[in-house]
Amino acid sequence: MSIVVMKFGGTSVADAARIRAAAARAIRTQKKGHQVVMVVSAMGKTTDVLVDLAEQVSRGQAPPKREMDQLLATGEQVTISLMAMALEELGAKAISFTAGQIGIVTDDSHTKAKIKSIDVRQIRRQLAAGKVVVVAGFQGVTEDGAVTTLGRGGSNVTLVAIAAALKAQACENYTDVDGMFTADPNIVPTARKIERISYDEMLELASQGVNVLHNRAVEFAKKYNVPIHLRNSGNERKGTMIVATTKSMERIVVSGAALKSKLARVTLRNVPNHPGIAARIFHTIARHDVVVDDIIQTLGDGGKATIAFTVDLGELSDAKKVVDEIAAGIKCQAAYEEKLAKVSVVGIGMQMHTGVAEKMFKALADAKVNIQNITTSEIRISCLIAQADGHTALRCVHDAFGLGKK
Ligand code: ASP
Ligand code: MG
Repeated sequence: MSIVVMKFGGTSVADAARIRAAAARAIRTQKKGHQVVMVVSAMGKTTDVLVDLAEQVSRGQAPPKREMDQLLATGEQVTISLMAMALEELGAKAISFTAGQIGIVTDDSHTKAKIKSIDVRQIRRQLAAGKVVVVAGFQGVTEDGAVTTLGRGGSNVTLVAIAAALKAQACENYTDVDGMFTADPNIVPTARKIERISYDEMLELASQGVNVLHNRAVEFAKKYNVPIHLRNSGNERKGTMIVATTKSMERIVVSGAALKSKLARVTLRNVPNHPGIAARIFHTIARHDVVVDDIIQTLGDGGKATIAFTVDLGELSDAKKVVDEIAAGIKCQAAYEEKLAKVSVVGIGMQMHTGVAEKMFKALADAKVNIQNITTSEIRISCLIAQADGHTALRCVHDAFGLGKK
C-alpha cells in the first residue's frame, strides 16, 4: 500500500477547528487507499510564546540549550495528542508519537540538532494495523535520551526525513499559502503560483530571503530525491511540486524573484593586498558567528584592496565590533551603510541562456533603480540596491522576465 506523509504547520493546526479539519483531510486521504502519517507543528505561535517565556525567566542570559529544547518540544507534543483525539472522534484509528517514542535519533547539538537515523518499524506496525500515525515534528532525541530540536521551522525536516525513511509515495506540506510564488504576492500583485520548481532553485531562493521551507528540509529532500508537494490546508488546489531538475525546466530562464529588504554593507578600504589577509579577516568574522552574505573584493590604485560584504541588518552591530578591531589591526578603514536591499532572480535555465543579466539591469535602469553591487551564482543574479527601491525593483524584474499572470 502506498504511504502518504502529510505535514501540517502551525497555522494549519492553530485551533481546535483547524486540528479537526486537518484530521478530516488525513482521513480522506486514507479513504483513497493510502496509509497516512501526519507530522505536525506546534499550534499557531506556541513556539514563539515558549521562546519568549524562556527569555523572561532568563533575564537576558541565554537559557541553557538543553532546557530550551526540553521546553520547545512540548509545543508539538500538545498537537500530536489533540490530533490523535480528533482523528479518533472522526472515526479513524490513530496513535501519536513523540520523536523519542519512535526513535528519531539526532546528534546532541541542542536547538539545531541533525537527524542521524529514524527507526520506522513502529510506524510501519501501526500503519499496518490501519492507524493514522501522528508524529511530532521539529523534535528528536539523542542516543542518551535527551530531547533535541531541529531548529526553527524544523517540522519540515521531520516531514522529509520520515518520507525518505518510509520511501513514501507522497510528501505533502500543508501551510496557509497555496504554494511557492514567482515573488512575494504581498509585494508583487501579479505574482503567480509556481507549479514545479527544482530543489536547487528553492535553495537559492531561500538563501535570498524566501522563507517557505527550511533549507535543511530541501537539502534532505534533494539528497534522498523526495518530491515535496507544498499545499494550502484551506483548499483542495494543487500546490507547488519541489522536485529534481528536469530537462524541461531548463527552458525556463527565470523561475522566481526574491527580495532581501534589510541589509547592511561593511566596507574595508586600503586593505593590504597580500596572501592571507582575506583569510584572516573572514576567519575572525566567522569565529564571532557573524553570518556574511555576498563578498566583493576590488583592487584600487597603489595595490591596496577594497573588501566589501553584506550582512543582515540584525547582524550589523556584531559585525561592527569585530570589524572595527580588524581594521585597527591591519590599519585600514571600515565604513558601514544601512538601508540596503538585494533583489535577485533565480532560474536553472540561466545556465543555458544568455542576456539574462542584461535584461535584469535594463529593467532596473528603466525603473530608475541604481545598482550598487552585483553578485551571481550559476543560477542566480543579485543586485544590491537602496532599501527604498526594494519593492519597485522586485516588481520590475519580476515583470521583465514575464513571471506574472498571463
Ligand atoms: N514549531 C516549530 C517552530 O515554530 C517548528 C515548526 O513549526 O516547524 O519553529
Ligand atoms: Mg511553527
